[in-house]
Amino acid sequence: MTTEKFVQLEDQYVANIYHPLDVVIERAEGVWMYDVDGKRYLDCLSAYSAVSQGHCHPRIVNALIEQAQKVTLTSRAFRNDQLGEFARELCELTGYEMTLPMNSGAEAVEAAVKAARKWGYEVKGVPDDQAEIIVCLGNFHGRTTTVISFSSEPAYRRHFGPFTPGFKFVPFGDMDALVDAVTPNTVAFLVEPIQGENGINLPPAGYYKFAETLCRRENILLIADEIQVGLGRTGKMLCSEHDEVRPDIVVLGKALSGGVYPVSAIVADHSILGLLNPGDHGSTFGGNPLAAAVSREAMRVLVDEKLAENAAEQGEYLMQRLRRIESPYIKEVRGKGLLIGLEVTADANGARRFCEELATEGILCKETHSTVVRFAPPLVITREETEWLADTVETIFARIEARDAEAAGHPVVSS
Ligand SMILES: *Cc1c(COP(=O)(O)O)cnc(C)c1O
Repeated sequence: MTTEKFVQLEDQYVANIYHPLDVVIERAEGVWMYDVDGKRYLDCLSAYSAVSQGHCHPRIVNALIEQAQKVTLTSRAFRNDQLGEFARELCELTGYEMTLPMNSGAEAVEAAVKAARKWGYEVKGVPDDQAEIIVCLGNFHGRTTTVISFSSEPAYRRHFGPFTPGFKFVPFGDMDALVDAVTPNTVAFLVEPIQGENGINLPPAGYYKFAETLCRRENILLIADEIQVGLGRTGKMLCSEHDEVRPDIVVLGKALSGGVYPVSAIVADHSILGLLNPGDHGSTFGGNPLAAAVSREAMRVLVDEKLAENAAEQGEYLMQRLRRIESPYIKEVRGKGLLIGLEVTADANGARRFCEELATEGILCKETHSTVVRFAPPLVITREETEWLADTVETIFARIEARDAEAAGHPVVSS
């Protein structure tokens, strides 16, 4: 089948909730993806950071196959021989006492909300149904009805109400607003250490540590949504480590399985997760042996291949190279590790056309919030590949600038 045919099929039969580039991927390996015509692309999205370990990592795929031939699903009605070891290894990797495994990221966020509320009622003593959770403007925590109840993005909410109450907004990075938002009923502050979907936004220095200190003082749980920034992406195993913050609850997903299977989890200490009892929560697939086996191998790959270290090294190099590009269309390059956002200027006519042009050169990027090109390749990327990426981005910006100048009747004469 041709690319056009695949695109037409999808558009006809699949609910139209995304705006994908019309590249039809057939197979992938490491940082590379191949379309149905055999054209090769460097993946700079990594499935929103889920394939940090690289596409189809042989060790993770092997773990999947081996476990699939033994047992895939028992439900939590019975025990399985993978869950306990998965939990111990995840706790050791992240430095927490317990975990609650789920499947998608949004489900793990929901689990964090429930755990925090329960803690609020049973430990903090908040009156029934009065718990408040503070969230940030511009957040992204997923798409379930409760999670969009605390989104500030109109497009995520329109015609999906009524919404779940109990959430209060503060501007991301604003310390005074955070202090003012606290009431005796506040049970948690839910935050992304770096806002991913909102354009790779970093808070001001000291903000995150300030938030932690405030939470301790006011007896509020700090919940870090590290679904996108966690597990090595920013150059540390947890992004919170950059600020020496230890959240009370960390939400993980995406790279927790290396993109091979949906696996998410929250981690916290016994003082929080120990409050949950049979009947409080559940998931047919959460903690299944296939998920556990895949995730165990995905975590080992992160450690064995020193992927956080590589993210720090290649990320620093890429950021430096992107910042050196001289283009009237680049407003700012920001990020941490291999989570980098290149914001285009108002004159640039949006980020998408840069993504489309990059695709013709074999680089797949996705714009976020229409003005930011995100560079988040798998963490296994080599220096050579990173150099090629930077060179190509430079070429593309020059090409588009020249083309626009020509279209405007002011051709850029190369010297
Ligand atoms: C992707 C993401 C989610 C949602 O994860 P899903 O698996 O798509 O439900 C939540 N929070 C953050 C920060 C994310 O990047």
